[in-house]
Amino acid sequence: MVIVMAPGASEGDIETVVAHIETHRGQAFVSRGVMRTIIGVVGTEDVLETLDAEGLPGVAETMRITAPYKLVSAQNHAKRTTIRVGGVPIGPDTFTLIAGPCAVETPEQTLEAARMAKRAGATLLRGGAYKPRTSPYAFQGLGVDGLRILAEVRDEVGLPIVTEITDAADIDVVSRYADMLQVGTRNMQNFGLLQAVGSSGRPVMLKRGLTATYEEWLMAAEYIAQRGNLDIVLCERGVRSFEPAIRNMLDVSAVPMVQRLSHLPVIIDPSHAAGRRDLVVPLARAGMAAGADGVMVDVHPSPETALCDGPQALYGDVLDELAAAVVTIPAALGRTSAANLAG
Ligand code: PEP
Ligand code: MN
Repeated sequence: MVIVMAPGASEGDIETVVAHIETHRGQAFVSRGVMRTIIGVVGTEDVLETLDAEGLPGVAETMRITAPYKLVSAQNHAKRTTIRVGGVPIGPDTFTLIAGPCAVETPEQTLEAARMAKRAGATLLRGGAYKPRTSPYAFQGLGVDGLRILAEVRDEVGLPIVTEITDAADIDVVSRYADMLQVGTRNMQNFGLLQAVGSSGRPVMLKRGLTATYEEWLMAAEYIAQRGNLDIVLCERGVRSFEPAIRNMLDVSAVPMVQRLSHLPVIIDPSHAAGRRDLVVPLARAGMAAGADGVMVDVHPSPETALCDGPQALYGDVLDELAAAVVTIPAALGRTSAANLAG
């Protein structure tokens, strides 16, 4: 069982709940988050039956959920959740395009990419300052300088920013600049990092691990939620497959399936799935048609000179094709484009 305390619950309220659990011979695991405190209860079936903590002071909600992930489970949620990133909604009623360069390289390149993103209908800007690269000799990102560039571009263009954090030690600096923290595929089960972003007070985009099952992905999200942070967006970005022609295989099934298992928004990243530009728009369309709550793509003003993932970056006519799909496909499924809400 999980007990969610109200945001204003006092230390005394928490102690009362813990004492109540222990009197009933249960064990309490308290996780004090920035936004709310979560108390996990472990005990036998009859302990949980008789606990009845709902009426105690400061208790917002008690949940008895059979899935191994509790706070992120769809159980007890009549409707899937909408989360907001700097005012931009991501959820079941809207469609959100996130676009930007794979990596922040220069102020000019980032600004130009942000303008392209906005023209295509994006309402959030992506861009990596800390790049998790397969090779230690590849461009590793500009670090704090990259965060500063992103913040300047946000002010200039007016798009809130999503950027990756790769090390829990960077949590303060990345949270200071970013509107949303991205946990990349390689760090999906970096539990210290998940706990750090869970305590950050920032919304989190959690990418699916290269070979993670839906349950492993949702258990990773539970680590974030357990720290009191339920502002989580799940991002399917392709899984490792046997086919060498594509970098990763976009799992379109993940969209409707994980939306059944969890109340959290699910988006797709066709750029990192395909690894090549000509497949990005077809895969983006497939994700939209499957009901994704958003799509995140790489764009770059001159992909041939990009320091990271140039072959998958959109520009020119291909970006226009994506923009056209964003206008038509989500609307056909009854969604409002986040760009229309902003505009
Ligand atoms: C990215 O979005 O920049 C990225 C590195 O993605 P992934 O973690 O999915 O490889
Ligand atoms: Mn990339």
